[in-house]
Order: sequence, then C-alpha cells, then structure tokens
Amino acid sequence: LGEDVDLEVLAKATSGFTGADLANLMNEAALLAARRGEKIIRDKHLQDAMMRVAVGTEKKSRKINDHEKKLTAVHEAGHAVVSRFLPTQDPVHEVSIIPRGMAGGYTMHVPKEDVWYSSKNRMIESIVSLLGGRVAEKIVLDDISTGASNDIERATQIARDMVTKYGMSDVIGPVKYGSSQEVFLGKDFGHSRDYSENVAAQIDEEIKRIVCDCFERCEKILSENIEILNRVSEYLIEHEKITGEEFDAIFEGKLDEYERLTREREMRQAEEEKRMLERKAEEERRLEEERKKREEFYRNGQGIGVIRVDVKPPEEPKEEEKTEENKEENE
Ligand code: ZN
Repeated sequence: LGEDVDLEVLAKATSGFTGADLANLMNEAALLAARRGEKIIRDKHLQDAMMRVAVGTEKKSRKINDHEKKLTAVHEAGHAVVSRFLPTQDPVHEVSIIPRGMAGGYTMHVPKEDVWYSSKNRMIESIVSLLGGRVAEKIVLDDISTGASNDIERATQIARDMVTKYGMSDVIGPVKYGSSQEVFLGKDFGHSRDYSENVAAQIDEEIKRIVCDCFERCEKILSENIEILNRVSEYLIEHEKITGEEFDAIFEGKLDEYERLTREREMRQAEEEKRMLERKAEEERRLEEERKKREEFYRNGQGIGVIRVDVKPPEEPKEEEKTEENKEENE
C-alpha cells in the first residue's frame, strides 16, 4: 500500500461497503496497479477501483453529442448544487459527466460520518437532492429527460418508507403498513397487503404529497440560485469532471482564486521538482568527478601506493621507479 493512501479517508468513502465489497475493491486496485506496472497500490488506483466497484468502468470511447452532454451536465449540477443547500446531505466529492457503466454521469458524495439511522429531515432532504437532476433540467432546459427515472424511483421509495415503514406521516400515523416479507424480498407484491383500499389510497396520496413538496422545495432552491447552477454545469461541460474542492470554489464564486492557488501550487511543485532534478544532476556530476579522480589516481599508480601506505611510510611510493612499475601493472 502506497504512502499516499489515507486509510481514514478511504474508510469514510467506503462506509456502507460490505466485507466482500472491500475485498473486491482491493483486488481491483491491485489489478489496476499491476496493469500500470507499479509494485504498490497508490491512492489513484484505489480511487479508480472505487468508481469501478460502485458505478462501473469509464466509457470514454462512447460518443456523446453536445445536447446529451449539456443535459447530463445540467442534471448532475442540479444534484450537486441543491445538496449543498441541504444541511443533512453529505459533501460533494466528485461530479462527472463521463459515461460509466450504466450511468450517463454521477454525483458522488462522501459521508462526513457513518450514519446508522436516518431522521425524517434527512430523508426529506435526500428526496430533494434526488430530484435536483430533474428540476435542473426543467429550469435550465425547459425540458425533462428519461435520465432521471432512477432518481424518481429512489425518491418515491424513500417517501413510501417514510409513510409505511417509519410512521413519519401525520396523516397516516405511526403505523407500519405492509408485511415484513415484502420488505425482506425488497418488492411490493400487492397481494400480501394487510390494509384496505381506502388506506392504500391515503398512502399513495401522502407519498405524492411528500415528493411534490420536495420537488417544490428543490425548484425554489435551484431557481433562486440559477447562476450557481449554470456556473457548475458550464464548468462540467468544459472539464467533464469536478472534484469536491473545485465544486466548492465554483459554488462560492471563488473559482478564479482557486485556480490561482492551484496554479501556484503546481508552479511550486514544478519548481521543487526542478530543484530536485538539479540536485540529482549535481550529485551525479560530483560522483562522476570523483570516479574520474579515482580512475586517474589509480592510473597514475597512486592508488596502489596508498594501499602501501598502511604497510610502509607514505614517502615510499614517491620513488620514481616504483611508480613506473605500478603504471605498467595497471596497464
Ligand atoms: Zn440523477
């Protein structure tokens, strides 16, 4: 494992991974490192492996047209920007519009800490965040795509859980609806429903109300901050990928400052590298010089004379004939 790997950061990024996921992650990282001819696993291998395990491999070869690119950029920017306004949501770690696995793009969050239970507030804000993509499409492009279908499915599922599983709806009350078998199978089979048509209609109504309220809240946040949304999506179109730090800088309108700092850091690194290379070259020159001196020393027969110094007084090798003799020996 390389020294640049921060296990604490890795642990945060992989919270929720099972043991098998972690084993898979390390295996992928090892393969990537080997494929790139390296002997140790570095942070960048782990980052890439993490994305492979979580989303799938990058498909840079897949051609996307400009409209599709813009759509994805606006969509992902919507998720990222709205989540920044929601206190319970995790910080943005990376946003990308490079197709990967099944995803056209993604917004990746890294949890501040492991969350073992969810609050009503957190669930609501998760729904708002999930709707960010669709809402951004609607506001910026005045059109909506099918790309958000998974977001909507997940948002609806959270709302359903809130109502039927966690008793978080005032209208429905703190009652659990549906057998645990449904939950266990992860599917709603309908036939195992243990409540009346009337309640079912109320539940559907509540789910719809929650999701629509969240949609409105999302719409309000994003339309009030459309400049930020545009800034982020334009940057995405240009760069295809944004790190969490870049995102924060764009969000706060400090991109110029951020880029200046980045440039300065890169210049410092380049300077440092240059100095290191100079030091290395200097060291090599010194070694070369020493080697030459040594060679000359031996060629002149002084080397062997020096060895003799230990045995005899140093004046000894200075005699004319002995030096001549050594010269011959060396040649
Ligand atoms: Zn989405």
